[in-house]
Amino acid sequence: MNKDWSPAARVQGLGTSVFTEMTELARRTGAVNLGQGVPELDAPPVLLKDVSAAVLAGSNQYPPAAGFPALREAVAAHQSRRYGLEYDPQDEVLVTTGATEALAAALLALCDPGDEVLAFDPCYDAYPAGARFAGARVVGVPLAEDGDVFVLDAAALRAAVTPRTRVLMLNTPHNPTGKVFTAQELAEIAALCREHGLTVVTDEVYEHLVYDGGRHATIAALEGMRERTLTISSAGKTFNVTGWKVGWVCGPAELVRAVGAAKQFLTYASGAPYQEALARMLDGVEEWAAELRSTLQRNRDLLSRGLASAGLRPYRAEAGYFLQADIRAWGYSDGVRFCRELPSRAGVVAIPTAAFNLRPDAPPYFVRFSFCKREESVISAVEKLVNAA
Ligand SMILES: *Cc1c(COP(=O)(O)O)cnc(C)c1O
Repeated sequence: MNKDWSPAARVQGLGTSVFTEMTELARRTGAVNLGQGVPELDAPPVLLKDVSAAVLAGSNQYPPAAGFPALREAVAAHQSRRYGLEYDPQDEVLVTTGATEALAAALLALCDPGDEVLAFDPCYDAYPAGARFAGARVVGVPLAEDGDVFVLDAAALRAAVTPRTRVLMLNTPHNPTGKVFTAQELAEIAALCREHGLTVVTDEVYEHLVYDGGRHATIAALEGMRERTLTISSAGKTFNVTGWKVGWVCGPAELVRAVGAAKQFLTYASGAPYQEALARMLDGVEEWAAELRSTLQRNRDLLSRGLASAGLRPYRAEAGYFLQADIRAWGYSDGVRFCRELPSRAGVVAIPTAAFNLRPDAPPYFVRFSFCKREESVISAVEKLVNAA
């Protein structure tokens, strides 16, 4: 052991995550992996061809730090077309290395040490890590259960605001629950942010994956919200290209400028050929996404029915890649133990929702199953779960 060295406080406890552990368990046991949200589905062929062509044509050097103008224009057009929100591609849109870098850069740009960031619990694990890197702290606001869905607990949200609160992190559609925040909920959140002068960072990487004819609504479109909101999205989930890491953030110029100041010293710029191809693809996203949604919705229905047959009570996923299930009928109360034993018991891998929990007193009996897989994988997992029940 080298005693001259120890990890800095900001990375302590961020070691091997349960995602790594479960992915390794799936590899070792050959179990069907419904753990990590890695799509088994194909990307649009025209997009793949376009990237190859861009590489061969020499698009292999640093793009501009803010991203290629063509992609920034395509993102601005997308926000205008879908949400009626106008952003200047010149200084109100910034291309990032995935939504992950946008999130980290936004938290670094907005938070000083000691600040508090509100996030709904459970939440995507990059939020508490990003806040910590900025010296800030995420405060978990529990989502309440209502039948088979999760809902905003407005009283809990109000109670969580302190004089140190600077940012509210929103994620809709939500990972890990598959919840879509309703118009009423967004209005309540927006009112609170206006009242307390909070900046909103909204993570909308599943914006195209709302099922059952539902439609994504963005908080930036509400009265008085554009000026205080950074909206983040990414190509990964929309086009089944999670390995490309092309994301973007839209917001008022001064906020985007601050994010860009942090971002330039994280990666500066990345993904030149991907950016070029995505700039051309984004205009056609609606047609592509309609097809992807119908595939994913079918998978969701198969998985949801299968979990119910296996006695693992599923919650309704209105969007995204994931379903929550309550494991107590199998005699477990601890999702971590359940997930460690599931590969040998049933030949399936899932992720304990505890990996997304901010509060130590969050219910431990939820497990997340992903359905962004080939239909055969979902069918096979369901058979195995039913047999093991
Ligand atoms: C997958 C995911 C991300 C990461 O997006 P990248 O573009 O791959 O960095 C961010 N937020 C949520 C909620 C996600 O599920």
